[in-house]
Amino acid sequence: MIVLLKKDTSPERLAGLTDWLRSKNIEIHKSVGSTETVLGLVGDTAKLDIDLISALDFVKDVKRIQEPYKAANRKFHPDDTVIAVGSAHIGGGDLTLIAGPCSVESEEQIVGIAKQVKASGATVLRGGAFKPRTSPYSFQGMRAEGIELLEIAKQETGLPIVTEIMDADQLPLFKNVDMIQVGARNMQNFELLKALGRQEKPVLLKRGFAATYEELLMSAEYIMSEGNENVVLCERGIRTFEQYTRNCLDLAAVPALKTLTHLPIIIDPSHATGRRELIEPLSYGAAAVGADGLIIEVHNDPEHALCDGPQSIKPETFDVIARRSTAIRAAMTV
Ligand code: PEP
Ligand code: MN
Repeated sequence: MIVLLKKDTSPERLAGLTDWLRSKNIEIHKSVGSTETVLGLVGDTAKLDIDLISALDFVKDVKRIQEPYKAANRKFHPDDTVIAVGSAHIGGGDLTLIAGPCSVESEEQIVGIAKQVKASGATVLRGGAFKPRTSPYSFQGMRAEGIELLEIAKQETGLPIVTEIMDADQLPLFKNVDMIQVGARNMQNFELLKALGRQEKPVLLKRGFAATYEELLMSAEYIMSEGNENVVLCERGIRTFEQYTRNCLDLAAVPALKTLTHLPIIIDPSHATGRRELIEPLSYGAAAVGADGLIIEVHNDPEHALCDGPQSIKPETFDVIARRSTAIRAAMTV
């Protein structure tokens, strides 16, 4: 349920209402927007008398929310949410560039790539330490040592770091990580989502390859309902009958999700296509449909990458993509 308040509602009247709601075990999400103040109510709202609340003279309107996601719902929070990631931010009309290798492979590799992508305008460094691989015989990532190397790259460049978690037990290792990634395969690992909801670091939540928008938003809701509202959504391609590309990039997810949720949404053209020659055009498409960011796999030596070489681009290509996609995104707001 949402309660729209009239402008200039006094803090005392508002406190009277919120205290009464809390006494009925209702949790309140207050959003002071540019045009209106909204109270989003979560809990057993079925028992609340809408007429009683509507009758208050400082209440403009009361509506029941039909969708099962509440905290993530645009109706709860009409303005776009902007998420801080260390010194960077995601949302609010800019195109945040997140770049780095699929996997951390060595100090020289991660620090070298970090410096190059930073010079091109990336403001967050990615790099996998725990890798969810289809085969148990493939490289599984450098694990704890990979995170240590990411921390060195962060110290050397000042770039905040994002890396994937596969199990809540790994959380202590993520102490100096700036944003925690939940991969497509774990989008519905509800215990992991709840654990991430009980800590404060922003979460990059990737869409599962067979997940609907509503299922993605319900996964965000799992995190948010535990208290952590810092969630960034990521469209990374879904599985279709097409075999030529690794997945099928659903660009409609950006404008569609923006109507449904206030959370920022970024695009991963690397896992969406699996083909390096498609990263550049799809990055431009993502910028044009209003994505809040791009996460791109960049490798200094893609031919010898330990993971996802075929979809990795070189820093020189990233430089071109960064310039043009930033210009395209800016053009969308003129
Ligand atoms: C990744 O970003 O390295 C990754 C494994 O992505 P996804 O979960 O989207 O497959
Ligand atoms: Mn990868």
